[in-house]
Amino acid sequence: KSWWTHVEMGPPDAILGVTEAFKADKNPKKINLGVGAYRDDQGKPFVLPSVKEAERQVIAANLDKEYAGIVGLPEFTKLSAKLALGENSEVIKNNRIFTTQSISGTGALRIGAEFLAKYAKTKVIYQPTPTWGNHVPIFKFTGVDVKNYRYYDKSTCGFDEAGALQDIAAIPEGSIILLHACAHNPTGVDPSKDQWKKISEIVKKRNLFVFFDMAYQGFASGNVDNDAFAVRYFLEQGHNIVLAQSFAKNMGLYGERVGAFSVVTSDADEAARVASQVKILIRPLYSNPPVHGARIASRILADPALNQQWLGDVKLMADRIISMRTQLKSLLAKEGSTRNWEHITNQIGMFCFTGINPQQVEKLIKEHSIYLTKDGRISVAGISSNNVGYLAHALHQVTK
Ligand code: PLP
Repeated sequence: KSWWTHVEMGPPDAILGVTEAFKADKNPKKINLGVGAYRDDQGKPFVLPSVKEAERQVIAANLDKEYAGIVGLPEFTKLSAKLALGENSEVIKNNRIFTTQSISGTGALRIGAEFLAKYAKTKVIYQPTPTWGNHVPIFKFTGVDVKNYRYYDKSTCGFDEAGALQDIAAIPEGSIILLHACAHNPTGVDPSKDQWKKISEIVKKRNLFVFFDMAYQGFASGNVDNDAFAVRYFLEQGHNIVLAQSFAKNMGLYGERVGAFSVVTSDADEAARVASQVKILIRPLYSNPPVHGARIASRILADPALNQQWLGDVKLMADRIISMRTQLKSLLAKEGSTRNWEHITNQIGMFCFTGINPQQVEKLIKEHSIYLTKDGRISVAGISSNNVGYLAHALHQVTK
């Protein structure tokens, strides 16, 4: 008798399932708006020119393939923290931060969850409604309970300021709160600078512990410093946060799995103690991280010319996405749609929460071969000059 007869079939991943259905579709006009990866205007995966050059240099350097330390490449973690916190960060000057390399953003979140499960006073994290689907199991699987606060306002397809502030003010003291630093996934809705200030104030009043997830630095506005506003503001306000960073999107290093997890501490001594414990958590998980992608990222962050080139690449990606938003909105108007589509251009980053209902999503898929998740989220990166007209037409057909 088999050992595994009691193992039931699990449900497919909500997002990867969309891609599978897309692949099976024979319609030549089909569009995949499910996947959260940047595509160029021909709909092709994009390797950043700065990344190609950095990789060429890494290979030319003929480095060995020895293990990295448990927390990864020291140069990478230093530069990564500097990218997030800024050139003149007081936290970095005073060495009151510990950063470890991670298996991209997901790995950073998971290390953070493991650390909080072991050391946080209250093992409950409050996440926005909605949030990235993976946020829930990442924390639950480590034993951190997941609760929610209001974030998205269906009636405006924008930020629910009143709801969010009210819910955050009611979170029990000492709890953890998860904040998307920029380009919120799945809604594309970010608080304004003023709204971030209000959130910071309430979070401080309630004595909440902040976990920032920054998976899209640079992708929202096209400027890495603008997109780090929330993180830097919270630090200025004295919040000692933890931070997950991903280089999947802003360097297009998806499959290389390059990320970082940081803990901001009250002083250097605390940082050293935290470091020692995070190492103990990582060692039995995967021993040490891969080096190739981190070497590429380090080159880009360290070399002034490559860095400039990269900032240009980031801006190019962000600008193409912004231009697709503008075109989609104006083509919907041309189609004769009288619906309010302002949110398409108000929202930011890779995703647009269209506000269409599950029946309309179903019609887009069945009648027009346009694939997206059931919640009405589309990846704007999947739109291009060739298909934006077809998309606008179809979107009008299912919503008129
Ligand atoms: N956090 C958010 C909000 C995301 O959307 C993603 C990717 O989609 C990640 C983290 C982590 O992605 P990765 O593990 O590929 O860096």
